Amino acid sequence: MSEAIVSIKNVSKRFPGGVVAVDNVSIDIAQNEFFALLGPSGCGKTTLLRMISGLETPTGGQIMIGGEDMALTPPNKRPTNMVFQSYAVFPHMTVEDNVSYGLRVTGVPSDETKRRTAEALEMVKLSHLAARKPDQMSGGQRQRVALARALVKRPKVLLLDEPLSALDAKLRDGMRMELTRLQETVGITFIIVTHDQDEALSMASRIAVMDKGAVQQIATPSELYEHPASRFVADFIGKVNLIDAKVLRSVGKHISCEAKGLGKLDLESTGTTGGTVSIAVRPEKLKIGKAEPKAANLIKVEGKVRDVAYYGDTSHVVVSTKDGLDLSINVQNDSREGGAGVERGQKVWVHWSPADSLVLAE
Ligand code: ATP
Repeated sequence: MSEAIVSIKNVSKRFPGGVVAVDNVSIDIAQNEFFALLGPSGCGKTTLLRMISGLETPTGGQIMIGGEDMALTPPNKRPTNMVFQSYAVFPHMTVEDNVSYGLRVTGVPSDETKRRTAEALEMVKLSHLAARKPDQMSGGQRQRVALARALVKRPKVLLLDEPLSALDAKLRDGMRMELTRLQETVGITFIIVTHDQDEALSMASRIAVMDKGAVQQIATPSELYEHPASRFVADFIGKVNLIDAKVLRSVGKHISCEAKGLGKLDLESTGTTGGTVSIAVRPEKLKIGKAEPKAANLIKVEGKVRDVAYYGDTSHVVVSTKDGLDLSINVQNDSREGGAGVERGQKVWVHWSPADSLVLAE
């Protein structure tokens, strides 16, 4: 990784009353990254973002931005700018005045203010609406005004707190792509807070998954999805089948275990050598068929279709085994015959490759 623009070292935040919102977190964020802080409500991600911006003070640890310790730097002197969930814009000012405001109040010469405002409006594709007032605009357009207001100050780091959560689903999808494009064009480091895993996976170059104030894993979207480090991350990112198993034996990287509903399995495991484990396997890795699969070295089990839900491009099938194991399977509907080709109550075989299973410690 290139040198960190934001370096968070052992940062904690304990609020009066004893709530530890952020607990000894360390993250290095590189220049030009689109970095996401992702986690369930209350995990501490907003508090961490607010500490980077200076709106909140850490009770432990150190935050460096651009190589400088920020402990004594107030929010308005930091090379950061924040875009809030509620896209704070002045309703009585035109779009242009909204965007130029931050430059005017800090005494930037009027020529430069005009030029930079025009550039910022261009970046968010709002030049043609410069004379409008925010209350004559859509939610997505207002959000872009808020982005332009932040970008015009040319921060090194743009902090975005759930920036899309006030938009409806369709607009949100469009704005995701806009934000990714914008980040690539302006070359500023973006740090976004979100509880929406799809949002983080589709936009971010790297993600820190947080739970209960602590970082659970920092990785690229595909690493998080394919190689989650814990049961929590596997369950939080996407859908997953988690099968309880007991380790019987372990030799080097291989374990032998007794898995609920599946019997004895030999799997590869990095890290776990004993005790109880979870075998994680994504629904799209599971295959379903009417006959017992013949190929060797497959994990396979017979069961009965309990549920079929049709989603157009995919169908979601739940198969229950006689030992009470429920397996979720995503079937790609790749022909116009339509559907998963199975129906409720039908006997089927489910199989997958051992290489698609991940052994996770409890
Ligand atoms: P959400 O997605 O719901 O905003 P979050 O992950 O951003 O959640 P935070 O807002 O950072 O979580 O809050 C983390 C914890 O700290 C929560 O338990 C919250 O109640 C607590 N907390 C946040 N701000 C304060 C405060 N000013 N005083 C006391 N406790 C606070």
